[in-house]
Amino acid sequence: MADPDAPDEGLLIDGRRVPSASGARSPIRNPATGEVLAYVAQAGVDDAQAAVEAARRSYEGGAWRRATPAERARVLLRLAELIRANAEELARLESRNVGKPIGESRGEVGMGADCFQYYAGQIPTFGGRTVPVSAPGTGLTFREPVGVCALIVPWNFPFAITTWKVAPALALGNSVVVKPASATPLTALRLGELALEAGVPPGVLNILPGPGGAVGAALVTHPAVRKISFTGSTEVGSGVMKLAADDIKRVSLELCGKSANLVFADADLEKAGAAVFSVFGNAGQDCCARSRVLVERAAYAEFVERFVERTRALRIGDPLDDATEIGSLISPEHRAKVDGYVRKGVEQGARLCIGGQVKRGGAYDAGSFYEPTVFADVAPDMVIAQEEIFGPVVSITPFDSEDEAIRLANGTIYGLSGSLWTRDIGRALRVVRAVETGVISVNTSWSVHLEMPFGGVKRSGVGRELGPSALEHYSESKSVFIAEL
Ligand code: NAD
Repeated sequence: MADPDAPDEGLLIDGRRVPSASGARSPIRNPATGEVLAYVAQAGVDDAQAAVEAARRSYEGGAWRRATPAERARVLLRLAELIRANAEELARLESRNVGKPIGESRGEVGMGADCFQYYAGQIPTFGGRTVPVSAPGTGLTFREPVGVCALIVPWNFPFAITTWKVAPALALGNSVVVKPASATPLTALRLGELALEAGVPPGVLNILPGPGGAVGAALVTHPAVRKISFTGSTEVGSGVMKLAADDIKRVSLELCGKSANLVFADADLEKAGAAVFSVFGNAGQDCCARSRVLVERAAYAEFVERFVERTRALRIGDPLDDATEIGSLISPEHRAKVDGYVRKGVEQGARLCIGGQVKRGGAYDAGSFYEPTVFADVAPDMVIAQEEIFGPVVSITPFDSEDEAIRLANGTIYGLSGSLWTRDIGRALRVVRAVETGVISVNTSWSVHLEMPFGGVKRSGVGRELGPSALEHYSESKSVFIAEL
C-alpha cells in the first residue's frame, strides 16, 4: 500500500537532511497496520563515506572534542530536556514504527532522556589519575576520546539503544555515525534533529538509515572509524568482529540471549507467576527475554497454572491504545519464523498450554500479531529451549535441586540476562554468582538500569553499555611520564 502523502525523510549528514547519493528511498511501515509512515532515504556505500568524512572533519575540527566538560554537559542536558519536551511525539512515532505498546515506548523515551542526563553528569567525574611509579618523576593518565565511532542499532528498541550508545560517546567528545535498523530509522532521525537544536555541532552526530549488509559493512571497514558499537544478532555481530579485526578497531557487541528465569519453591509464587513481562515485554522481541523458566518441582504445577492464567489475561491489540500490553511483531517474515519455532516445539513433544497461533481476525489481519505462547514440560535440549526465538514464546522446565537449576540455566551458548525468585538470601547470592550471565535480578524481572553496566557473556557479546563502563569503551587511556629535572 503506497501513500503519496507520507513524508520524505533524508539522511542526516553533517548537520543537514539529504537524499541518498543514489536517490534510493524505502517505505517505512507501521507493522501493526501496514500503513506507510514515511519514505526514508536509503544510504549506500557513498553515503557511508560521506558520513564518516563529516564525522572525521568534525572530530578533527575540535568544536565538540575541545569544548569544555561543562559546555558538553550543558548541551547533553539541553538534549535531555528536548527529548522530554517531545516525549509523546517520540513515543507515538516509536510505537507506530515498531508496533510496540505505547506504554513501553513512553518508558523507553523517558529512559533515553535520562541517559543523556546521566552521562552529562558523568562528564566532570571521568578522567585520568596520577600514578605512583618506580622511577624519578611523575606518572599520570589521561582519558581521551577514541575518535569516529560507528554505532549500529537493531529494530527492537531503536530509540533507547541509540541513546545508550550516543550519550556516552558524545559525552567524551567523540563524533559518531549511527546506523539504525533498516525498518526502524524514524526516532533516530528525530533524535539527530533534536541534538542539533540542543547545540551538538554539525557532523558530530550523523544518522544513516540503510541496509546493514552494505552500509553497516562500509562503516565497519572504513579506516577512519576507530570504534564500533554493535547491537544485534550473534551471527551478524560475529561478522562485524571479523571485519573489524583487520584494522584492530575497538569493538563492543550486544548480541542474542536465551535467558533463564529461575523460580525456587520458597519464592513469592503470586509475584513470580504474574511476572509474564519477563518474557512477553515488547512481544518477546527483547534480547533480555527470560524465554526459559526453570521451576523447582514442588512449585511447578502451581507456577505453570498462575503463569498461564496471567498470560490468558494479556491484552493484545492496537499499540497506540493505553490498555494494550502486547502489540504487533515487527514483520510477517519475523512472525513466520516465530511460528516455525512453535511448530518445532509441538513436534518435539513440549506441552502447549496456551497460544501457539497467529492472531487473526479484524484489525489483527493488517498486522503481524501472535498469541503469547506458553510451553510446559520442555526438555532442556529441545530447539525452543536452546535458540533465541525473539517472539512471545516461553518454555517452562522443572528442576529438582539448586545444582540442577544452575546447570540448566548455564546450558545454552548465551549469557545475557536472567532472574531468580527466592526468599532465601544465601541461595540468592550463591545462584547469582553461579549463573553465567552479564545481568541478573532477584525477585523482579527488572534488570536494565542505566546507572549499571549492561551486556553479556559467552555468545551474548563483549563489553558493557550503560553505567560508568560505557565511558571506558568510548575513550582510550594515555599514560604520561614526566621525568624530574
Ligand atoms: P541484526 O543483527 O539483523 O541487525 C542489527 C543491525 O546490524 C541492523 O542495523 C542491521 O542493519 C545491521 N547489519 C546487518 N548486517 C550487517 C553487516 N554485515 N555489517 C554491519 N551491520 C549490519 O539484528 P536485528 O534483527 O536488527 O535485531 C534483533 C537482534 O538483536 C536479536 O538477536 C537480539 O537479541 C539482538 N539484540 C541484542 C541486544 C543486547 O543488548 N544484547 C539488545 C537488542 C537486540
